Amino acid sequence: MSESSPESTESSFLWDIVRYIIVALMAGGLIWWSFFHTPTVYGSKEHSGKTMGTDYIVKVARFPEHDDWAKVAAEIQSRLDILDQAMSTYRQDSDVCQFNASTSTEEWFPVSPETAYVVNTAWEISQLTEGAFDITVAPLVRHWGFGAGSSSRQTKSWEVLKSEALLLKEQSGYEKLSVRLDPPALKKAIPELSIDLSAIAKGFAVDCIAELLEAKKMTDYLIEVGGEVRSKGKKGKDKNGKEMEWVVGIENPLPDPPSPIQQKLVLGNKSLATSGSYLQVLPIDGQRISHLIDPRTGMPAQIGEGGSELLSVAVIAPDCTRADAWATAMFVLGEQKGAELAPRHGIAVLFLLKSGNEIIEVPSKNWSQKSETP
Ligand code: FAD
Repeated sequence: MSESSPESTESSFLWDIVRYIIVALMAGGLIWWSFFHTPTVYGSKEHSGKTMGTDYIVKVARFPEHDDWAKVAAEIQSRLDILDQAMSTYRQDSDVCQFNASTSTEEWFPVSPETAYVVNTAWEISQLTEGAFDITVAPLVRHWGFGAGSSSRQTKSWEVLKSEALLLKEQSGYEKLSVRLDPPALKKAIPELSIDLSAIAKGFAVDCIAELLEAKKMTDYLIEVGGEVRSKGKKGKDKNGKEMEWVVGIENPLPDPPSPIQQKLVLGNKSLATSGSYLQVLPIDGQRISHLIDPRTGMPAQIGEGGSELLSVAVIAPDCTRADAWATAMFVLGEQKGAELAPRHGIAVLFLLKSGNEIIEVPSKNWSQKSETP
Protein backbone atom coordinates (compact mmCIF):
# COMPACT_ATOMS: atom_id res chain seq x y z
CA MET A 1 0.00 0.00 0.00
CA SER A 2 1.80 3.35 -0.84
CA GLU A 3 2.43 6.17 1.74
CA SER A 4 0.22 9.16 1.06
CA SER A 5 2.14 12.57 0.99
CA PRO A 6 0.63 15.86 2.50
CA GLU A 7 -0.06 17.17 -1.12
CA SER A 8 -1.96 14.04 -2.12
CA THR A 9 -3.95 14.21 1.17
CA GLU A 10 -5.05 17.77 0.28
CA SER A 11 -6.02 16.91 -3.34
CA SER A 12 -8.07 13.90 -2.26
CA PHE A 13 -9.85 16.20 0.26
CA LEU A 14 -10.67 18.64 -2.58
CA TRP A 15 -11.81 15.75 -4.80
CA ASP A 16 -14.13 14.63 -1.95
CA ILE A 17 -15.67 18.14 -1.86
CA VAL A 18 -16.18 18.16 -5.67
CA ARG A 19 -17.72 14.70 -5.53
CA TYR A 20 -20.03 15.81 -2.70
CA ILE A 21 -21.16 18.87 -4.72
CA ILE A 22 -21.86 16.70 -7.83
CA VAL A 23 -23.91 14.23 -5.77
CA ALA A 24 -25.80 17.08 -4.11
CA LEU A 25 -26.58 18.71 -7.46
CA MET A 26 -27.77 15.41 -8.95
CA ALA A 27 -29.92 14.70 -5.92
CA GLY A 28 -31.32 18.25 -6.08
CA GLY A 29 -32.06 17.83 -9.75
CA LEU A 30 -33.80 14.55 -9.11
CA ILE A 31 -35.89 16.09 -6.28
CA TRP A 32 -36.82 19.00 -8.52
CA TRP A 33 -37.67 16.67 -11.40
CA SER A 34 -39.82 14.38 -9.29
CA PHE A 35 -41.65 17.12 -7.38
CA PHE A 36 -41.75 20.11 -9.72
CA HIS A 37 -41.22 18.94 -13.32
CA THR A 38 -44.53 18.82 -15.12
CA PRO A 39 -44.34 16.37 -18.03
CA THR A 40 -45.39 18.01 -21.31
CA VAL A 41 -48.97 17.21 -22.09
CA TYR A 42 -49.66 16.74 -25.81
CA GLY A 43 -52.92 17.05 -27.67
CA SER A 44 -54.07 17.18 -31.27
CA LYS A 45 -55.03 20.50 -32.83
CA GLU A 46 -56.93 21.53 -35.96
CA HIS A 47 -57.33 24.77 -37.83
CA SER A 48 -59.26 25.44 -41.04
CA GLY A 49 -59.88 28.47 -43.21
CA LYS A 50 -60.05 29.85 -46.74
CA THR A 51 -57.31 30.50 -49.25
CA MET A 52 -56.85 30.61 -53.03
CA GLY A 53 -60.60 30.47 -53.63
CA THR A 54 -60.90 27.18 -51.72
CA ASP A 55 -60.82 25.66 -48.22
CA TYR A 56 -57.87 24.37 -46.24
CA ILE A 57 -57.40 22.38 -43.04
CA VAL A 58 -54.30 21.75 -40.91
CA LYS A 59 -54.22 18.97 -38.30
CA VAL A 60 -51.32 18.59 -35.88
CA ALA A 61 -50.88 15.63 -33.52
CA ARG A 62 -48.59 15.75 -30.46
CA PHE A 63 -48.97 19.52 -30.03
CA PRO A 64 -47.55 20.65 -26.64
CA GLU A 65 -50.64 21.87 -24.78
CA HIS A 66 -48.74 24.74 -23.15
CA ASP A 67 -47.93 26.15 -26.62
CA ASP A 68 -50.18 28.77 -28.21
CA TRP A 69 -52.13 27.09 -31.03
CA ALA A 70 -54.05 30.27 -31.87
CA LYS A 71 -50.71 31.95 -32.62
CA VAL A 72 -49.65 29.06 -34.90
CA ALA A 73 -53.04 29.18 -36.67
CA ALA A 74 -52.67 32.91 -37.27
CA GLU A 75 -49.20 32.36 -38.75
CA ILE A 76 -50.61 29.69 -41.08
CA GLN A 77 -53.34 32.02 -42.36
CA SER A 78 -50.89 34.89 -42.81
CA ARG A 79 -48.49 32.68 -44.78
CA LEU A 80 -51.31 31.55 -47.07
CA ASP A 81 -52.48 35.15 -47.57
CA ILE A 82 -48.97 36.13 -48.72
CA LEU A 83 -48.89 33.27 -51.25
CA ASP A 84 -52.38 34.12 -52.49
CA GLN A 85 -51.33 37.74 -52.87
CA ALA A 86 -48.33 36.71 -54.99
CA MET A 87 -49.77 33.97 -57.18
CA SER A 88 -53.46 34.71 -57.73
CA THR A 89 -54.94 35.34 -61.16
CA TYR A 90 -58.03 36.64 -59.29
CA ARG A 91 -56.27 39.64 -57.65
CA GLN A 92 -55.15 42.44 -59.96
CA ASP A 93 -52.36 43.44 -57.52
CA SER A 94 -50.72 39.99 -57.48
CA ASP A 95 -47.24 39.27 -58.92
CA VAL A 96 -48.88 37.03 -61.51
CA CYS A 97 -51.53 39.53 -62.65
CA GLN A 98 -48.98 42.33 -62.85
CA PHE A 99 -46.59 40.14 -64.83
CA ASN A 100 -49.44 39.09 -67.15
CA ALA A 101 -50.37 42.77 -67.70
CA SER A 102 -46.81 43.81 -68.56
CA THR A 103 -45.94 43.74 -72.28
CA SER A 104 -42.16 44.11 -71.94
CA THR A 105 -40.07 41.41 -73.58
CA GLU A 106 -36.77 43.11 -72.73
CA GLU A 107 -36.89 43.56 -68.97
CA TRP A 108 -36.87 40.96 -66.23
CA PHE A 109 -40.07 41.34 -64.17
CA PRO A 110 -39.23 41.04 -60.41
CA VAL A 111 -41.43 38.58 -58.48
CA SER A 112 -41.34 37.00 -55.01
CA PRO A 113 -38.85 34.15 -54.45
CA GLU A 114 -41.81 31.80 -53.95
CA THR A 115 -43.35 32.77 -57.31
CA ALA A 116 -40.02 32.25 -59.05
CA TYR A 117 -39.63 28.84 -57.39
CA VAL A 118 -43.14 27.74 -58.43
CA VAL A 119 -42.66 28.95 -62.03
CA ASN A 120 -39.28 27.19 -62.18
CA THR A 121 -40.82 23.92 -60.95
CA ALA A 122 -43.66 24.31 -63.45
CA TRP A 123 -41.12 24.87 -66.22
CA GLU A 124 -39.28 21.65 -65.27
CA ILE A 125 -42.52 19.64 -65.40
CA SER A 126 -43.44 21.24 -68.74
CA GLN A 127 -40.17 19.89 -70.11
CA LEU A 128 -40.68 16.42 -68.59
CA THR A 129 -44.22 16.19 -70.00
CA GLU A 130 -43.33 17.76 -73.39
CA GLY A 131 -45.78 20.58 -72.78
CA ALA A 132 -48.75 18.60 -71.42
CA PHE A 133 -48.32 20.75 -68.30
CA ASP A 134 -47.86 24.41 -69.20
CA ILE A 135 -48.69 27.44 -66.99
CA THR A 136 -48.70 29.73 -70.07
CA VAL A 137 -51.99 28.04 -70.98
CA ALA A 138 -53.79 30.98 -69.30
CA PRO A 139 -55.38 32.53 -72.46
CA LEU A 140 -56.75 29.12 -73.48
CA VAL A 141 -58.20 28.50 -70.00
CA ARG A 142 -60.06 31.82 -70.25
CA HIS A 143 -61.07 31.17 -73.85
CA TRP A 144 -62.82 27.91 -72.96
CA GLY A 145 -64.68 29.69 -70.12
CA PHE A 146 -62.68 28.90 -66.99
CA GLY A 147 -60.51 30.80 -64.50
CA ALA A 148 -60.43 34.52 -63.70
CA GLY A 149 -61.81 36.82 -66.42
CA SER A 150 -62.99 33.90 -68.53
CA SER A 151 -64.42 34.96 -71.89
CA SER A 152 -68.12 34.62 -72.63
CA ARG A 153 -68.71 32.13 -75.42
CA GLN A 154 -72.35 31.21 -74.98
CA THR A 155 -73.28 31.93 -78.65
CA LYS A 156 -70.15 30.60 -80.32
CA SER A 157 -70.21 27.19 -81.97
CA TRP A 158 -67.71 24.42 -81.26
CA GLU A 159 -66.05 24.98 -84.63
CA VAL A 160 -65.60 28.75 -84.03
CA LEU A 161 -64.22 28.13 -80.54
CA LYS A 162 -61.86 25.49 -81.89
CA SER A 163 -60.49 27.76 -84.66
CA GLU A 164 -60.02 30.63 -82.17
CA ALA A 165 -58.23 28.25 -79.79
CA LEU A 166 -55.74 27.32 -82.52
CA LEU A 167 -54.86 31.02 -82.91
CA LEU A 168 -54.62 31.55 -79.15
CA LYS A 169 -52.28 28.58 -78.85
CA GLU A 170 -49.64 30.73 -80.60
CA GLN A 171 -49.84 33.12 -77.59
CA SER A 172 -48.76 30.37 -75.21
CA GLY A 173 -45.86 27.95 -74.82
CA TYR A 174 -43.56 27.53 -71.82
CA GLU A 175 -40.50 27.96 -74.04
CA LYS A 176 -41.58 31.65 -74.44
CA LEU A 177 -41.24 32.14 -70.66
CA SER A 178 -37.93 32.62 -68.80
CA VAL A 179 -37.46 32.41 -65.05
CA ARG A 180 -34.55 33.55 -62.88
CA LEU A 181 -34.28 32.41 -59.26
CA ASP A 182 -31.75 34.96 -58.00
CA PRO A 183 -32.71 37.70 -58.04
CA PRO A 184 -36.21 36.21 -58.59
CA ALA A 185 -37.78 37.43 -61.84
CA LEU A 186 -39.71 36.34 -64.95
CA LYS A 187 -39.40 37.40 -68.60
CA LYS A 188 -41.61 37.04 -71.70
CA ALA A 189 -40.51 36.32 -75.25
CA ILE A 190 -43.84 37.65 -76.61
CA PRO A 191 -45.86 40.56 -75.12
CA GLU A 192 -49.15 38.57 -74.91
CA LEU A 193 -47.71 35.74 -72.81
CA SER A 194 -49.61 35.16 -69.54
CA ILE A 195 -49.38 32.54 -66.80
CA ASP A 196 -51.89 30.72 -64.58
CA LEU A 197 -50.57 28.95 -61.44
CA SER A 198 -53.88 27.32 -60.51
CA ALA A 199 -52.53 23.84 -61.21
CA ILE A 200 -49.44 24.07 -58.96
CA ALA A 201 -49.70 26.87 -56.38
CA LYS A 202 -52.06 25.08 -53.98
CA GLY A 203 -49.59 22.20 -53.75
CA PHE A 204 -46.83 24.71 -53.07
CA ALA A 205 -48.98 26.29 -50.34
CA VAL A 206 -49.24 22.87 -48.65
CA ASP A 207 -45.44 22.48 -48.75
CA CYS A 208 -45.01 25.98 -47.24
CA ILE A 209 -47.29 25.12 -44.30
CA ALA A 210 -45.39 21.86 -43.79
CA GLU A 211 -42.15 23.88 -43.67
CA LEU A 212 -43.70 26.32 -41.15
CA LEU A 213 -44.80 23.47 -38.83
CA GLU A 214 -41.48 21.61 -39.06
CA ALA A 215 -39.58 24.80 -38.18
CA LYS A 216 -41.59 24.66 -34.92
CA LYS A 217 -40.59 21.00 -34.41
CA MET A 218 -44.10 19.81 -35.23
CA THR A 219 -43.59 16.66 -37.30
CA ASP A 220 -46.92 14.87 -37.00
CA TYR A 221 -49.36 16.65 -39.26
CA LEU A 222 -51.86 16.48 -42.13
CA ILE A 223 -52.34 19.54 -44.36
CA GLU A 224 -54.93 19.92 -47.12
CA VAL A 225 -55.49 22.89 -49.45
CA GLY A 226 -58.28 22.48 -52.00
CA GLY A 227 -57.84 18.70 -52.26
CA GLU A 228 -54.01 18.68 -52.29
CA VAL A 229 -52.74 16.81 -49.23
CA ARG A 230 -49.47 16.18 -47.40
CA SER A 231 -49.00 14.15 -44.23
CA LYS A 232 -46.11 13.28 -41.96
CA GLY A 233 -45.64 11.19 -38.83
CA LYS A 234 -48.59 9.72 -36.95
CA LYS A 235 -52.10 10.87 -36.13
CA GLY A 236 -51.70 10.03 -32.45
CA LYS A 237 -52.60 6.97 -30.35
CA ASP A 238 -55.92 5.13 -30.31
CA LYS A 239 -57.67 4.11 -27.06
CA ASN A 240 -55.43 1.02 -26.85
CA GLY A 241 -52.33 3.19 -27.12
CA LYS A 242 -51.57 2.01 -30.70
CA GLU A 243 -50.08 4.61 -33.06
CA MET A 244 -52.62 5.68 -35.73
CA GLU A 245 -51.69 6.51 -39.32
CA TRP A 246 -53.00 9.48 -41.30
CA VAL A 247 -55.47 7.90 -43.75
CA VAL A 248 -56.71 9.86 -46.78
CA GLY A 249 -59.53 9.04 -49.21
CA ILE A 250 -59.66 9.38 -52.98
CA GLU A 251 -63.11 10.58 -54.02
CA ASN A 252 -65.26 8.46 -56.30
CA PRO A 253 -65.86 10.85 -59.24
CA LEU A 254 -69.15 9.29 -60.39
CA PRO A 255 -72.17 11.64 -60.19
CA ASP A 256 -74.07 9.19 -58.00
CA PRO A 257 -71.43 6.85 -56.56
CA PRO A 258 -72.20 3.70 -54.53
CA SER A 259 -69.63 5.04 -52.05
CA PRO A 260 -68.14 8.58 -51.92
CA ILE A 261 -64.62 7.17 -51.44
CA GLN A 262 -62.96 5.12 -54.18
CA GLN A 263 -59.80 4.24 -52.26
CA LYS A 264 -58.50 4.86 -48.74
CA LEU A 265 -54.74 5.29 -48.44
CA VAL A 266 -52.14 5.39 -45.71
CA LEU A 267 -50.19 8.33 -47.13
CA GLY A 268 -47.19 8.19 -44.78
CA ASN A 269 -44.68 10.99 -45.30
CA LYS A 270 -45.85 11.81 -48.83
CA SER A 271 -48.18 14.10 -50.75
CA LEU A 272 -51.33 13.33 -52.73
CA ALA A 273 -52.95 15.58 -55.32
CA THR A 274 -55.92 15.01 -57.60
CA SER A 275 -57.16 16.56 -60.81
CA GLY A 276 -60.54 15.88 -62.31
CA SER A 277 -62.81 16.76 -65.18
CA TYR A 278 -65.95 16.37 -63.06
CA LEU A 279 -65.72 19.39 -60.80
CA GLN A 280 -65.40 22.31 -63.23
CA VAL A 281 -67.41 21.38 -66.30
CA LEU A 282 -69.12 23.42 -69.05
CA PRO A 283 -71.48 22.27 -71.82
CA ILE A 284 -70.65 23.22 -75.43
CA ASP A 285 -72.73 22.04 -78.36
CA GLY A 286 -73.89 18.99 -76.43
CA GLN A 287 -70.32 18.15 -75.37
CA ARG A 288 -68.98 18.42 -71.84
CA ILE A 289 -65.62 20.15 -71.43
CA SER A 290 -63.53 20.58 -68.29
CA HIS A 291 -61.07 23.22 -67.08
CA LEU A 292 -58.15 20.92 -67.93
CA ILE A 293 -56.65 22.11 -71.21
CA ASP A 294 -54.20 20.31 -73.48
CA PRO A 295 -51.68 23.10 -74.28
CA ARG A 296 -50.32 21.03 -77.19
CA THR A 297 -53.66 21.19 -79.06
CA GLY A 298 -55.33 24.23 -77.44
CA MET A 299 -58.37 22.01 -76.80
CA PRO A 300 -59.95 20.85 -73.51
CA ALA A 301 -58.19 17.65 -72.41
CA GLN A 302 -59.84 14.34 -73.20
CA ILE A 303 -62.35 16.08 -75.49
CA GLY A 304 -62.07 16.35 -79.28
CA GLU A 305 -60.48 13.56 -81.28
CA GLY A 306 -61.15 10.27 -79.49
CA GLY A 307 -62.10 11.76 -76.11
CA SER A 308 -62.08 9.05 -73.44
CA GLU A 309 -64.00 8.72 -70.19
CA LEU A 310 -61.17 9.73 -67.88
CA LEU A 311 -62.77 11.40 -64.82
CA SER A 312 -59.95 11.91 -62.37
CA VAL A 313 -56.30 11.31 -61.60
CA ALA A 314 -54.55 10.97 -58.23
CA VAL A 315 -50.78 11.40 -57.91
CA ILE A 316 -48.55 10.53 -54.96
CA ALA A 317 -45.19 12.35 -54.84
CA PRO A 318 -42.55 13.28 -52.25
CA ASP A 319 -43.71 16.93 -52.21
CA CYS A 320 -47.08 18.52 -52.83
CA THR A 321 -45.93 21.14 -55.36
CA ARG A 322 -44.96 18.40 -57.79
CA ALA A 323 -47.92 16.18 -56.90
CA ASP A 324 -50.28 19.04 -57.80
CA ALA A 325 -48.64 19.82 -61.14
CA TRP A 326 -48.18 16.16 -62.10
CA ALA A 327 -51.87 15.43 -61.40
CA THR A 328 -52.91 17.99 -64.03
CA ALA A 329 -50.20 16.79 -66.41
CA MET A 330 -51.26 13.15 -65.99
CA PHE A 331 -54.87 14.02 -66.78
CA VAL A 332 -53.78 15.69 -70.03
CA LEU A 333 -51.40 12.83 -70.92
CA GLY A 334 -54.09 10.19 -70.34
CA GLU A 335 -53.82 6.77 -68.70
CA GLN A 336 -51.68 4.98 -71.32
CA LYS A 337 -48.84 7.51 -71.54
CA GLY A 338 -49.21 8.69 -67.92
CA ALA A 339 -49.04 5.27 -66.24
CA GLU A 340 -45.88 4.49 -68.19
CA LEU A 341 -44.22 7.90 -67.51
CA ALA A 342 -44.96 8.22 -63.76
CA PRO A 343 -42.53 5.67 -62.24
CA ARG A 344 -39.66 7.21 -64.26
CA HIS A 345 -40.15 10.49 -62.37
CA GLY A 346 -40.58 9.13 -58.86
CA ILE A 347 -44.34 9.55 -58.72
CA ALA A 348 -47.21 7.04 -58.52
CA VAL A 349 -50.48 7.66 -60.34
CA LEU A 350 -54.02 6.23 -60.28
CA PHE A 351 -56.41 6.94 -63.15
CA LEU A 352 -60.17 6.63 -62.53
CA LEU A 353 -62.18 6.06 -65.70
CA LYS A 354 -65.93 5.84 -66.08
CA SER A 355 -67.36 2.79 -67.83
CA GLY A 356 -71.17 2.79 -67.76
CA ASN A 357 -71.88 3.40 -64.10
CA GLU A 358 -68.66 1.75 -62.96
CA ILE A 359 -65.22 3.12 -62.16
CA ILE A 360 -62.20 1.41 -63.73
CA GLU A 361 -58.93 1.91 -61.84
CA VAL A 362 -55.74 2.18 -63.90
CA PRO A 363 -52.75 2.43 -61.49
CA SER A 364 -49.09 2.90 -62.45
CA LYS A 365 -47.05 -0.19 -61.53
CA ASN A 366 -45.62 1.61 -58.47
CA TRP A 367 -49.06 2.51 -57.07
CA SER A 368 -48.39 0.17 -54.18
CA GLN A 369 -50.72 1.95 -51.77
CA LYS A 370 -52.97 -0.22 -49.68
CA SER A 371 -56.23 0.12 -51.53
CA GLU A 372 -59.15 -0.75 -49.33
CA THR A 373 -62.10 -0.04 -51.58
CA PRO A 374 -64.59 0.74 -48.83
P1 FAD B 1 -56.03 21.49 -60.96
O1 FAD B 1 -55.95 20.35 -61.90
O2 FAD B 1 -55.15 21.54 -59.78
O3 FAD B 1 -55.76 22.84 -61.81
C1 FAD B 1 -56.50 23.04 -63.00
C2 FAD B 1 -56.35 24.51 -63.30
O4 FAD B 1 -55.04 24.70 -63.84
C3 FAD B 1 -57.34 24.95 -64.35
O5 FAD B 1 -58.46 25.55 -63.70
C4 FAD B 1 -56.52 25.97 -65.15
O6 FAD B 1 -56.55 27.20 -64.48
C5 FAD B 1 -55.11 25.42 -65.08
N1 FAD B 1 -54.76 24.45 -66.14
C6 FAD B 1 -55.61 23.78 -66.96
N2 FAD B 1 -54.92 22.96 -67.79
C7 FAD B 1 -53.59 23.13 -67.49
C8 FAD B 1 -52.38 22.57 -68.00
N3 FAD B 1 -52.40 21.65 -68.96
N4 FAD B 1 -51.20 22.98 -67.46
C9 FAD B 1 -51.18 23.91 -66.46
N5 FAD B 1 -52.30 24.48 -65.94
C10 FAD B 1 -53.49 24.09 -66.45
N6 FAD B 1 -60.63 30.38 -57.66
C11 FAD B 1 -61.71 31.17 -57.39
O7 FAD B 1 -62.81 30.81 -57.79
N7 FAD B 1 -61.59 32.35 -56.68
C12 FAD B 1 -60.36 32.79 -56.24
O8 FAD B 1 -60.26 33.84 -55.61
C13 FAD B 1 -59.21 31.99 -56.51
N8 FAD B 1 -57.98 32.39 -56.10
C14 FAD B 1 -56.88 31.61 -56.39
C15 FAD B 1 -55.61 32.01 -55.97
C16 FAD B 1 -54.50 31.21 -56.26
C17 FAD B 1 -53.13 31.66 -55.80
C18 FAD B 1 -54.66 30.00 -56.98
C19 FAD B 1 -53.47 29.13 -57.30
C20 FAD B 1 -55.92 29.60 -57.42
C21 FAD B 1 -57.03 30.39 -57.12
N9 FAD B 1 -58.30 30.01 -57.54
C22 FAD B 1 -59.40 30.77 -57.25
C23 FAD B 1 -58.49 28.76 -58.36
C24 FAD B 1 -58.83 27.50 -57.48
O9 FAD B 1 -58.19 27.55 -56.26
C25 FAD B 1 -58.28 26.21 -58.14
O10 FAD B 1 -56.90 26.39 -58.33
C26 FAD B 1 -58.86 25.89 -59.45
O11 FAD B 1 -60.22 25.69 -59.28
C27 FAD B 1 -58.23 24.59 -60.00
O12 FAD B 1 -57.84 23.69 -58.98
P2 FAD B 1 -58.20 22.12 -59.13
O13 FAD B 1 -57.50 21.43 -58.03
O14 FAD B 1 -59.65 21.98 -59.29
O15 FAD B 1 -57.56 21.69 -60.56
